[in-house]
This record gives sequence, C-alpha cells and structure tokens, in this order.
Amino acid sequence: MKLVSTVIGYPYIGENREWKRCVESFWKGGITEAEFLSDMKKIRLDHLKRQASFGVDLLTVGDFTFYDRMLDQAAMFGLVPTRYKWTGGTVDLTTYYAMARGAKDVVACEMTKWFNTNYHYIVPEYEDSSMKVTKNYLLDYFNEAKEEVGLITKPTIIGPYTFVQLSKGYDDTSKASFYLKLLPLYVQVLQQLVDAGANWIQVEEPALVFSMSEDEIKLVKFIYTQLAEEVPAAKIMLQTYFEGLSAFEELSRLPVSGLGLDFVHGRKGNMASLHKYGFPQDKVLGIGVVNGRDIWRTNLAEQALDAKAVLSLSGVKEAWIQSSCSLQHVPVTTTSENELDPVLRNALSFADEKIVELTQLKSYICDVDWDGNKSVSQSMLANQAIALHEARKNKRVKELVSQVKTEHFTRPLAFKERQVLQKEVLHLPYYPTTTIGSFPQSDEVKRTRRAWRNHEITDAAYDEFVQKEMARWISIQEAIGLDVLVHGEFERTDMVEYFGEKLSGFAFTEKAWVVSYGSRCVKPPIIYGDVEWTVPMTVKEVVEAQKWTSKHVKGMLTGPVTILNWSFVRNDISRKEVANQIALALREEIKALEEAGISIIQVDEPALREGLPLRKEHWNEYLEWSVQAFKLATSSVKNETQIHTHMCYCEFNDFIEPIRALDADVLSIETSRSHGELIQSLKRNPYELGIGLGVYDIHSPRVPSVEEIENILNDSLQVIPKEQFWVNPDCGLKTRKEEETIASLKNMVKAAKKLRQEQ
Ligand code: GLN
Ligand code: ZN
Repeated sequence: MKLVSTVIGYPYIGENREWKRCVESFWKGGITEAEFLSDMKKIRLDHLKRQASFGVDLLTVGDFTFYDRMLDQAAMFGLVPTRYKWTGGTVDLTTYYAMARGAKDVVACEMTKWFNTNYHYIVPEYEDSSMKVTKNYLLDYFNEAKEEVGLITKPTIIGPYTFVQLSKGYDDTSKASFYLKLLPLYVQVLQQLVDAGANWIQVEEPALVFSMSEDEIKLVKFIYTQLAEEVPAAKIMLQTYFEGLSAFEELSRLPVSGLGLDFVHGRKGNMASLHKYGFPQDKVLGIGVVNGRDIWRTNLAEQALDAKAVLSLSGVKEAWIQSSCSLQHVPVTTTSENELDPVLRNALSFADEKIVELTQLKSYICDVDWDGNKSVSQSMLANQAIALHEARKNKRVKELVSQVKTEHFTRPLAFKERQVLQKEVLHLPYYPTTTIGSFPQSDEVKRTRRAWRNHEITDAAYDEFVQKEMARWISIQEAIGLDVLVHGEFERTDMVEYFGEKLSGFAFTEKAWVVSYGSRCVKPPIIYGDVEWTVPMTVKEVVEAQKWTSKHVKGMLTGPVTILNWSFVRNDISRKEVANQIALALREEIKALEEAGISIIQVDEPALREGLPLRKEHWNEYLEWSVQAFKLATSSVKNETQIHTHMCYCEFNDFIEPIRALDADVLSIETSRSHGELIQSLKRNPYELGIGLGVYDIHSPRVPSVEEIENILNDSLQVIPKEQFWVNPDCGLKTRKEEETIASLKNMVKAAKKLRQEQ
C-alpha cells in the first residue's frame, strides 16, 4: 500500500499578511501592475517552497488568488457580466477588481458565504452570452512551479457542479445551456494541464456533501462521465469537504481516479458509507484526518488510528493523508505567537504545523513501530497539558453550569403580558425610532484607540475621549429626535474581541489572521478555557450615557452564539457547553445593567444563522442549543425590562421559527436588500413580537429620502401591527461618515413622525 501526504490548499495571505498589503497597495496605486504581478508571484512561489520544506509529498497550485477563487474561475471562463463593459481577451485586473469590489459607476458582483465557513466568495453571474477560456492561469501556476521550484504540483480547480451550484443568473431552463458551454471549457483547461505534465488534478466538489436529488446525482454522473471521455488522461482527485459525501454508493463510483473525503467533519457519514458500500479498488482514497477548520494540535496517535481504520475498511492500494479541507481557513503559523501562554501555544497548530502533522502521520502509519515515536508522544503531551490547564478547571463556572435549571431559560411572563408592562414603564410613542448600536468610528476614534493600545496615551485620557464622543452623540441623537438612544460603541473595535478581552477563558493572538473576504482579514479570539464573567463590561459607558439624557439608552451586548461562532473554540467540550458558559457570563452582565437602571438591553446575534450545519437534517440540534443559549443569557430580567436583539440579513423565510423562539421583545433586522421578500414571508407567517425592519441600507453612503423611508414603512404596515412596529436602519453605523449618518437618521425620524400623525 502506498501512502502520500498532500495539501489541499494553503493560506495565501502570508505570515505577515504580505498578500493583503500587496493587493491593497496596488488598489491605492502604490505599486504598478508589473510590480504587483511580480510581488504576487514571489508570494506564490515562497509559499510553495515553504510547504515543500516541511517534507510533504504533493503540493497544490491554484489555491492562490488575487481576490477569490470563484472569481478567478469566472474570469477564466469569460463570465464577465455586461455591466463591466469588458471587451474580450484576457480579463484585465481593472475589470477583475471591478467585479470584486465595484468601481465608480458599476456595482460589484454579489458576495456570499462559502459553505459554513466565515469566508465569503464572489458569486459568478451567468448571462447566457458566449464563454471561452480567457486564460488558463492554472497552467501558468503549474508551469512556474515546475520551472522555478522544480515541483510537479497538483493544480486545483473548483468542479463544474459546485461552480454552477454557487453561481447565479440561470434558471431551470438555462441551466442546461450553462453546463453545455461550461463543460468544454473544463475539458480544455484539464487537457492543457495534462499536456503540461500534471499527473494529478484536484477537482473540488464540496457541493457533493449537500443532500442531493436523483436528478442532481444524474447530473454529476453526466459531468464526470463527460470529462472522463473527453480528457481520458486526466487523473482527477475529486475532493469533497465539510461533511460526508452524499449518495456515496453512486458517487464513489464516478469515473475519476481518486476521491477525497473529510474524516473530521464528515467522519460519521463517511465511515458509515465505507462500512456499507466499501470503496472502489481502482481509486485512490484521500483521507482528510487533520482538522482544516480548527487551530488545535492533532493528537497524532488518535488520528493515526482513525486513518488506519479507514485504510483497512477501504482496502485501497493508494491513499493520501491530508487535511479535512483547504488550510485557507486557519492562520499561517504558530511560530509568530510569542505572547501566548506556552501551554496553549504548544497545543495549537496552524497551517504550517498541520502540514508537518500530515508528514508525521504518514510516517507513523507506514512504520510498524511508531508507538515510541517522538512526535506522537509530543502531540499527546501537548494535548494532555492543555486538557489539564487551570483555565479549563474553573470551579465557579462548573458550579454555575451545574445549577442551571429549566426555568433559567424562560422569562416569567409571556410576551403579550410583558408588552403591557413595558408599555407602562417605557412610555415610548408608536413607531419608536432607534439605531442598531454603533455610530461612526471616525479616523479620530480609531487613531485614539490605537494610541491607547500602544500606550501612547493614558487610560484616563482614552476614557475621557470616549466619554466626550459619547456625550456628543447623545446630544446629536436628541437633536435628531430619536426615541431610544445608544451610547455609540466607540470603545469597541470589534463586537467579539471587546467582550473576549474582558471575559476569562479567551486568548488573543498577534498574527493569527484568516481571510473573511477579499483582502479583509479577521483575527478570531481563541476560547481555550472556561468562560467566566469577571468584571462589568458595558455598564460604565451605558450608565454614563444614560446620565446625559432623559430618553432611554439601550444597553448593548454581543450574544453568546455570535461570540462562539466568530471565535476559534476549544474542542474538549461541546459547542453547546461553551455557548452556555458564555450565556451565563452575559446573564451576569445583563443583571448588572439592569441593576444600574438600564431598562432596554440589546443582545446582538448576527451570527446565529451562520452557525447552521450544512445539512438541513442537522439544523434542529444546533438551533435547539443556540436558541437556548440566547434565552439563558436574556431571561433573568424583570418583565418590564425590554430585551432587543439584532440580526443582519438572514433569509428570514426559513428562519422565522428560531427567531420567534428567542422570545426577544424586539427584533431589528436588515431588510433593505430583500424588503419585498420579507413582507411576503411575514404575510404568510405573521410575527407577533416587536420588530423593526431596517428602513435603509447602511452599506452605502447614500442618504435615503423621507418619501423613500415612508414607502418602506407603509409597506411594512401591511404585515406589522402598530403595537409591534419599530423604526431603525439595517445595521450599525460604524462604517458611515458622520454627515450622512445624521442626514439619514433625520429623514428616518421625520418619516416615523409623519406616520404617527397620520394614524
Ligand atoms: N451593535 C452592533 C453595531 O451596531 C451590531 C453589528 C452587527 O450586526 N454586525 O455595530
Ligand atoms: Zn447587523
């Protein structure tokens, strides 16, 4: 039996975010196109050399991009929407980046979440026009790796089924012609790679992990039969990830040379399928055993056992040892983290370390005598040490969790009764106006925070600055005439980091960046220990702001599920348990706010929907514990205290039940991109709690007119009774300029006041 260690994909941002700097400097005109291309090439080749130095057998090209790989492929196939006025030839960088980010007079292509990750891709648009291979960049990448690094790599391409599935602009009828135009282009690209000497081509088909209909299975069979007939010499490694392969019996028999399976996130399903259907003996099996989605060090002994089980079950002649998916979802290397607790650091594994683990795993599995091997015992010790870490042995947290009872998850009175009581104490007009929480983070705000973080100004000076800004915005809000005010979140950079820094159990890295979309990177906190509330986190600011106004100031927190979903989370206890720990900590904070006299408290859950598992059949389990975590955090308050929550755009349609189950007194939700749809779904399925449909898009500097907002309000009135009706923008305003913010909110308040008069 032959074993090969391979990489599915490597992060392109670079250890010091060189990639991001290069791209952004090109956008700003800091470097020329020629400089940009040569810097990018250097980064690409450096990354290959770096991976090769870890001793891995087979490396990938085509995992690199100038912005996003779906966009790269759209450009490669000439799928450029007409609005970009592209005139043919290869797709130039100006057009490419206009599609990615929009340009002066043309909007960008849509961007959406890549499966259940926090990465967002550019959605290709099919326009029924002609398509051709404008430039086979995979061929260029393959050749440069061969010529300049001396490596025969495996080019990777997102497969036709997934590519079409994630594109838009076609319907059931035009889908066939999309495929008919697209498949010959795949044939051409694959053939050129084969001709250039590519032994293997990785074709990524993550969409094969969704539940599939008979027709879809037929379609996939057609696609791969077609490719096998047209390019018989191409050895395709059909790579799936994020879940078990659907329709295993049929799809594992597709005419391809290898099949890559995720044995981390799809372990249960893939194992069951192997047991039931076995594995075709003519194929190479890609065994994804190193977690490509988390940051924890692999317990090599355990994973080697797993891989061995897979090997004996499948009985294949050749297998690849790989990560569960591309390593693009993890940071580059732990070696840049010098400030972390050493036990924690030693328990971490980012992309570089995971590649090393792949090579180690391979040698343990091959060697008969791997028991005493040093790497195995080191990985075991590292895992044991973190398991015994003090941060995971917090008695107070364990006790609190053990004391949780059913009644802690529900508010004493039902909404209808709470509504009456809240009305009595809050004295709000009909159609109350409010905002989502943040006000513009001006250059001055950012600069001052940076200076404070760098110890250039004192705590007192920073505090004073934040206070001044809050006071200024309280009077701005009063002047505008808003009904429920906010303190403006000037003290926060990020809605998760801010809380993580004040709760126990969190760690922050120096350079553990991952791409969220385009050149935007995020540095998620690491929840490695028990989460405990130790100090009030938001009370000081909100209470201060409340002193300056007779209007209500809303307390403002990030919810437990969002904190969880936007962090890297420990893997020794369930996500549900971690969510409950966070919920208990927030419950404490909410108590503190309430005791300080705050009567409206908002708990944001913009990431609630993102956490949904890929397969619908797993939704319930997730929703059950995540909704419960929100309720655990929010249900300790008095009946008179009004709990708000906020969600960004979340495809309300199939999500209304879980939202309702949160039992939040008021929900504010982003709507401007889908107002009509939302109204329709509320018609079918009325919502009976307080709700504010966002009345204008906060992503654009445009100031909406009073009439425009009135129209939206009038539309919403068809489905939302007066008693439940709130008026607010789509989301927080931190990225907007002061002027446009004030102008927009003035119009919003005017529109609400007109509505009050008319009624
Ligand atoms: N309260 C946050 C803000 O206003 C909410 C942000 C979000 O929904 N992502 O910025
Ligand atoms: Zn939002």
